Amino acid sequence: MNRQNKRKREQGYYKTHACTDHFVCKVCNRQVVPEGAGSNHRNHCPNCLSSLHVDIEPGDRESDCGGRMEPVAVWVRKGGEWAIIHRCRQCGVFSSNRVAADDNPMKLMSIAMKPLSEPPFPLERIEEMVALMGGEGSLKK
Ligand SMILES: [Zn+2]
Ligand SMILES: [Zn+2]
Repeated sequence: MNRQNKRKREQGYYKTHACTDHFVCKVCNRQVVPEGAGSNHRNHCPNCLSSLHVDIEPGDRESDCGGRMEPVAVWVRKGGEWAIIHRCRQCGVFSSNRVAADDNPMKLMSIAMKPLSEPPFPLERIEEMVALMGGEGSLKK
C-alpha cells in the first residue's frame, strides 16, 4: 500500500472500503471482484457497465434511490481517459464515472458508437444538408 492510500484509510476512508467488496451485479448477475480494476475504485459492473444509484457524491453511499444506473454515453477526459455517463432509470439523475482497467471494451465501444449508428438524420443527405446551410451552419433563404 502506498503512502497516499494509507493516509486515506487512516482518515476512515469508508468510501474505498465499501467499493472493494465482492458483489453480484444485479443487472447481468456476474460475480464482480475488486481485483483487476486497476487503481480506480469500482463503482460499476465491468461486464455490463451498469451501476446502482447509491451515491450522491461519488462513493458516499448517501442516496436512497437504489435505481439501476444505465451506461448511456462515454466522454473523453483531459489526457485521453474515458469516462462513462450513467443515467438512473428510476430518478433520471446523470453521473460520470471513470472507466476501470477491466471494463468490457466491446461494451464501451458500442456505447461510443451508438449515436453514429443511429443518426437523427439520413446520412446520405449530409452533403445536401450542408449545402442548404451554405456550408456555414446558417440556412440560406
Ligand atoms: Zn453487470
Ligand atoms: Zn436514482
